[in-house]
Amino acid sequence: MQLRIPGPTPCPPEALEASGRQMINHRGKEFFALIERVTDGLKAVYQTKNDVFILTASGTGGLEAAVVNTLSPGDRVLSATSGVFGDRFADIAQAYGADVQRLTFEWGQPVDPTALEKALKDDPSIKTVFLTHNETSTGVTNDLKELSRIVKQYDKLLLVDAISSMAVVNLPTDEWDCDVVVSGSQKAYMVPPGLTMVSVSERAWKAREQATMPNFYWDFKRARQSLEKWQNPWTPAVSVIFALDATLKLMLAEGLPAIYERHAKVGQAARDGVKALGLELFARESHASNSVTAVKPGDTNDAATIVKMMREDHGIVLAGGQRTLQGKIFRIGHLGYVSVAEIAEVMAALADVLPRARQGG
Ligand SMILES: *Cc1c(COP(=O)(O)O)cnc(C)c1O
Repeated sequence: MQLRIPGPTPCPPEALEASGRQMINHRGKEFFALIERVTDGLKAVYQTKNDVFILTASGTGGLEAAVVNTLSPGDRVLSATSGVFGDRFADIAQAYGADVQRLTFEWGQPVDPTALEKALKDDPSIKTVFLTHNETSTGVTNDLKELSRIVKQYDKLLLVDAISSMAVVNLPTDEWDCDVVVSGSQKAYMVPPGLTMVSVSERAWKAREQATMPNFYWDFKRARQSLEKWQNPWTPAVSVIFALDATLKLMLAEGLPAIYERHAKVGQAARDGVKALGLELFARESHASNSVTAVKPGDTNDAATIVKMMREDHGIVLAGGQRTLQGKIFRIGHLGYVSVAEIAEVMAALADVLPRARQGG
């Protein structure tokens, strides 16, 4: 099976080999060296001097950690959303009692900087802004540079879901003044699920001092205390850290500009490929994601049939649409360990499947 979903993504042999290693003591010397190396590597990928913590959870756990460490019940939050993951970020804050205003955009559209600015101008009580850098459910990458500029012009705390954009497109955490940036192991890091990474700025630490939302497992203060001794507060997913150590080595050897360039090429190949097959992209090309391409099924039956035929006839696993987009789009994941040649294989398989899907399978 070829996994072409936007996470979990395929792992290179180096990651698989590393994750199969024998366990070590997570309170011992070997682990200290490992966690120091991996943390340094993550800071390089994040382009940050801020603290970076490795938490054991899927990406959603990192989003929850960002919320409960920086907010208090009743805090006014502006959450920009145009898809499943933007909604999820807002839902988490709401679950913990934040007063969340959703700035919503049609699915498939990016967050509009002008609308963001207006919302901030209209409501000075907003303390914190949530942005999703890459909306995986629709294949849209938001202009985080411009959006963060506006958030900072209004002097707000900025929490960013970068789970499907980190190590795909440029995200200079410090230069763009992002306070908490969340990423996840099973996306462009090319390792199995199980870890979520968070960077924490000075401003976020100040917010931490004020925040009263309940937390224990996610507490950044405990994470910082432990990291001073090159440890995690709790038993981490050691195997995934082994794998991440291996892929960070690959990533840093390749270099960030080359990683972004590679994703740009793969993304372009996916978009060009589906257009050449006569299909329409779901997102505008100006904001098209280099992690995932969302495609309308055109005059075929429905997107779910295409996904099914691709899996059954070609062993290629695509993603369908989520929620209201179920059956309306299919998605090709192309972040991490995926080549242009492998995207060409996806297109060849689609070329075979589409005429039959038109005839109703
Ligand atoms: C994958 C993803 C998540 C996290 O999902 P988990 O299943 O909890 O790892 C969150 N946000 C975005 C944008 C994602 O792509």
